[in-house]
Amino acid sequence: MMSEIRVRFAPSPTGYLHVGGARTALYNWLFARHAGGVMVLRIEDTDVDRSKPELTTAILESLEWLGLLWDEGPIYQSQRLDRYRAMALNLEHAGRAYPCFCTPEELQAKRARAEAERRPWKYDGTCRALPESERQRLRAEGRPAAIRFQVPDSGQTTFDDLVFGRIEVDHRDLEDFVLLRSDGNPTYHLGVVADDLDLRISHVIRGADHISNTPKQILMYQALEAPIPVFAHLPLILGPDKQRLSKRHGATSVGAYREQGVLPEALVNFLALLGWTPPGQKEIVPIEEMICAFNLAAVSKSNAVFDLEKLAWMNSEYIRNLPAERLLPLVKQELSVAGLEPYFAARDQAEEQFQQAVFLLQSRARTIKDFAGAFRAFFTDDFPYDPEAVKKFWKDAAVPALLGDLAARLAATEAFDLAGAERVLRALAEEKGVKAGVLINAARVALTGQGVAPGLFDVMLVLGRDRVTSRLNRAADSMKSG
Ligand code: GLU
Repeated sequence: MMSEIRVRFAPSPTGYLHVGGARTALYNWLFARHAGGVMVLRIEDTDVDRSKPELTTAILESLEWLGLLWDEGPIYQSQRLDRYRAMALNLEHAGRAYPCFCTPEELQAKRARAEAERRPWKYDGTCRALPESERQRLRAEGRPAAIRFQVPDSGQTTFDDLVFGRIEVDHRDLEDFVLLRSDGNPTYHLGVVADDLDLRISHVIRGADHISNTPKQILMYQALEAPIPVFAHLPLILGPDKQRLSKRHGATSVGAYREQGVLPEALVNFLALLGWTPPGQKEIVPIEEMICAFNLAAVSKSNAVFDLEKLAWMNSEYIRNLPAERLLPLVKQELSVAGLEPYFAARDQAEEQFQQAVFLLQSRARTIKDFAGAFRAFFTDDFPYDPEAVKKFWKDAAVPALLGDLAARLAATEAFDLAGAERVLRALAEEKGVKAGVLINAARVALTGQGVAPGLFDVMLVLGRDRVTSRLNRAADSMKSG
């Protein structure tokens, strides 16, 4: 009896953690947390040419960053080769697998012939019926042999996938697949079944690209007289053009989104909805609610579309609601990575000023990167003027003089507060016969470099009087000299 819920996430360290892999990890994790079960992390690193230890490290880091912590492992397949060999031999001894002496050249030639004749190719079973004496003779000659699983000639394998429903495969459509290569290395099927069995995995939750592997693995469990886990395959993730998500569509690794300033909780929420609709069709779902509501039966088998705009929206929602104790260190880190020492650091009340700037900008940020990017002027005097904003808001010939006057009056006013600054600006506009909006827009570009920013008077207070006047004068000068 398998009563305990045990799942596994089994990445191959041949690349970074792909968002599809992260979605698989997340669904495993949610399923385990929901059921009070265990998630095992297994590194499928038997492909020595393509697996790299630094990629394993990167995968572990990405999982940790997402908060998807495993309960057991990591278990490395490369350390279990003896176990796989023993299992292949067991199957051979039980008469469920056999040695195959066909060389790669022979197999290739047969495949080519089948292709030329437009026949679907599957291994023709040449070595299936070799008499034992012949096997011994070939072995004695030192001929390398793979071990192939012997698929029954007739009948079907059927399983009830928790997402895709009943799946039935005719054994005639399966070939005698290799378990152990002639160099002694296991194939994917052998490693997966040996591990899932030894780890007492109750539910195999993985991408739909593995559906066609499942009947072969079920046949192995049956041959081993072992309990068969429940299978749940997750829908594919497509790009907006409905093609399978790939580099062509932009970043595909979790690490790349981290670098782009996406919050882990936003990415987790976004990935969770790639195939699963939480009750009530809510979009923003806190992780505790996800754990509570997660149900594989509610996962759709239709392909999911990776919508970058939605991720950006979700990220801004999460940033908007991020508690100060999470947001402030993230922004500081971002500024320091970008080489921007907040100028507030040199002043009294440094921390308070910094915080005011962050809180003013919080609801406008789409990513954490914005703080060192579009919002740069709030943290350093060294910022560029956006050429589009300049063209639009500094085109009036009167602007330099107006900004100079505004600087002088703000320097002289008694009350440099929200209402006071606004009064000064409106009085000046009226006196000079220009619309207040013209002056507001021109001043916004002067203070922030941007045509779009928080309310001008809020910006002024956050920057402080000295900085405001010197930036207004600097802009006026740059226009005169430009
Ligand atoms: N290592 C496989 C992959 O990365 C997963 C195998 C499995 O889940 O059965 O796709």
